[in-house]
This record gives sequence, C-alpha cells and structure tokens, in this order.
Amino acid sequence: MPASKLYAFDTADWDYEYSSMVRGEQPGETYASPCPCYLVDHPEGTVLVDTGVDPAMVADPENYGNYGAPQAADHAAAIETNAGRRASALLTEVGYSPEDVDVVVLTHLHLDHAGDVKSFADAEIVVQQAELEYAWWPADPFQRDLYLEGDFGVLRSPEFDVTPVEGRYDVFGDGAIECVPTPGHTAGHQSVKVDLENEGTVVLGGDVAFLETAYEADRQPSFAWDTETAIATTRRLRNDAQRWDADVFLSHDRDHLDALPEPPAHLD
Ligand SMILES: [Zn+2]
Repeated sequence: MPASKLYAFDTADWDYEYSSMVRGEQPGETYASPCPCYLVDHPEGTVLVDTGVDPAMVADPENYGNYGAPQAADHAAAIETNAGRRASALLTEVGYSPEDVDVVVLTHLHLDHAGDVKSFADAEIVVQQAELEYAWWPADPFQRDLYLEGDFGVLRSPEFDVTPVEGRYDVFGDGAIECVPTPGHTAGHQSVKVDLENEGTVVLGGDVAFLETAYEADRQPSFAWDTETAIATTRRLRNDAQRWDADVFLSHDRDHLDALPEPPAHLD
C-alpha cells in the first residue's frame, strides 16, 4: 500500500564551502544549504526520515558529548537555526506530535541528520549497522567532527528501540517505504525509496551527493568516508532511480527542497 503524504521540513541553513562539498568546483564560493527532514504518512504508521540539526548542539560545544568534537564549533558557526526549527517542533505545525512518529529512519548519523533523534524515544529507530559502528569510532578526524555523541549517544540507552539493519530494509513489509544502502558518504549511509499514491516513487537521497551537479558528475566531497564506494553507489542509484521512474531529492540541494511543497502542503 503506498504512502499517503510526504512533508519536507528545513531544520537549518548551513553556509558551506562549495569546493569542499563538490570537490574542486567554485573554490572560494559558499553555498547556502538547507538541512531537511521528511515526514511520511503511511496507512501502517508515520515515518520520519532524518531529524535534522539540534539547535542546542549548534549553540554550545558543551553539548557535543563526553569526548567533544574539537573542530565542530567551526561548522556550527556556519549553521543558522533556532528552537522552532527542531524536527520535533516543525512536525507539530502540520498536526503531528513527536509521539505520533512510529519509525525514524536515519540516512546517517552526521550532526545535520541525526540532531533531534533524542526527541523520538517512542519510535523505532532504523539505522544501518555499519553506520552505528562507525559513528562511535570514526578514524578520519574530519568525520569525527561531524558525529556528535551528544546527538546519537541516546541510542545506546535502553529507552530507545534501535533496529540496526544490514542491506535493504522494507519498513512496513509492503515495499512502500524501503531503506536502500548507499554507502560512501559515510560507512553506513542509506537512502529511502518512497512510493506515494499520486506522485509515484521518489527517493530521499540524503547525502549520496551534495548537489545535483555532484550527483550527475560523480563529484564527491573531499571528506567522503570512501570516495570510490561513493561513486559506485551514485552510479547504482542513478540506474535504480531510472528503473523506478523516480525523482531523487538530495538533502542539501536547495533546488531539490524548493521543488517539494512547503508545509503544510505536501506530496501525496
Ligand atoms: Zn548532510
């Protein structure tokens, strides 16, 4: 049974250095990127895809977690958000409470995707096993600064119902909302394929690539977990999306977010 609604929310604006996100392109330029999350309503339950940025993390390095993240404050300085833009606050504007969310699917655990997961203790949290493992012990110092223990540390708590998945995962068993592993940006990155009643199939690509130009031309960021894997993943997703006749919405491409209806409007 297809999903009935898909809302897109924007939790923060992140001014990033263009050439580090789309390697080698437009050095010295900045790009004003959105940091979205998505709410999908399905007859079997309500699914949140990503939880955006937590404003408390941006506001104070004391919140980063026990072991901090030395350079993360530099990233935080380029992120603009506020309490009203938390995922848990935004969904109330369209009539849902955090308790209404049955499943949270996290594309990965970077600070701009897993920020507000702590607000969803009543939900099942679906993450790739490889992502859970890497987030706790990232070898690359740049990656270390994008994984804030203060965001995802709660997932270790027995209060949270975490489903670590390996490979494809069909959320309701009917093919309507499916996690598709797309590693490369991070060790356990995944995208989400959603079948909608009227719109047909869409893919929430997460950070499989940063912008449309990067997605089409295999331009990965300089800090990708594994560039070769990311390129192979992108090529596979391009082919899959064509077979599925699906549009792919990348998290950080402003045009992609603008192409989705602004809440309270939604795809259906
Ligand atoms: Zn991101």
